[in-house]
Amino acid sequence: STTPLTLLGLGGMGTALARAWLAAGHPLTVWNRTAAKAEPLAAEGARVAASAAEAVAAAGLVVVCLLDDASVGEALAPAELTGKDIVNLTTGTPAQARERAHWARRRGARFLDGGIMAVPPMIGTPQAGGYIFYSGDHALFEQHRETLAIPAGTRYVGTDAGHAALHDVALLSAMTGMFAGITHAFALMRPEREVKPTEFAGMVTEWLRAMAAMTEAMAWQLESGDYTEGVTSNLAMMSAGNATLEATAEEQGVKGELLAPFMASMRERVALGHGDEGLAGLVDGLRGGSPQR
Ligand code: NDP
Repeated sequence: STTPLTLLGLGGMGTALARAWLAAGHPLTVWNRTAAKAEPLAAEGARVAASAAEAVAAAGLVVVCLLDDASVGEALAPAELTGKDIVNLTTGTPAQARERAHWARRRGARFLDGGIMAVPPMIGTPQAGGYIFYSGDHALFEQHRETLAIPAGTRYVGTDAGHAALHDVALLSAMTGMFAGITHAFALMRPEREVKPTEFAGMVTEWLRAMAAMTEAMAWQLESGDYTEGVTSNLAMMSAGNATLEATAEEQGVKGELLAPFMASMRERVALGHGDEGLAGLVDGLRGGSPQR
């Protein structure tokens, strides 16, 4: 169960992955473009390869965690990939993952793409709740399941190599919108010296946790196709309420730019006569389509 493997890329994430496999006793060969980053890992038992091609030659299982898809193509260009199992944990778009899968197969390799839902301190710490989405070659995933489960939990989401990246980016997108709201909220409270940010943070976290339940309500509406079903806060009401959010931002001297596009979507949907819908109604609007009912 201690499969030897190769890891290309020793940035913040790659280094965390390397440490997790070394700690679990896996023979590990590493390579990084800037060789100095491999030195601490050599001291911890990793074999350091002089080139990416040499690193790839050292093991059947090759994990890649580089900056972006272009760096993956560049690093693997001179390597012999025939018979290799490539697991690409580099963040990219779904189309890049599918393209990379075809590219790897043409070169005689099996390919699995991954999207890491964790930050480096969560790697090798199962109780931190981090995990990695995987998609692509199912036989590869099954064969290396135990090895892949060492750094973080595994969630296989299908044979389409682009599916892990799609899940990854969808969750990152949800997070981005959430951070926009949090940033705006801190800015509103900024001049209120008597409310410490650390105190306000607790209120934000508690509120967002309660409101996250809306996600399930939206999902039920999307599945039923009836976006008015069980709606307690409809778009007409929320859109009218947005005027208060905008006026308060102005009073507090805060730019409305982070929230404005979302509010515009709501206004547009109401103007089209869908004010009785919940937030689910915005989903079709965003795709430029009419509601599917
Ligand atoms: P870093 O910026 O710390 O490291 C980037 C790595 O890519 C380095 O090893 C760098 O080598 C290498 N690299 C960049 N360009 C090239 C190239 N043209 N050829 C060869 N190697 C190259 O990034 P992370 O380690 O944090 O992230 C790696 C991947 O993991 C990214 O795709 C990221 O999105 C993903 N990820 C990261 C998370 C995080 O919180 N850090 C969370 C989830 C996913 P060099 O040292 O020589 O510059």
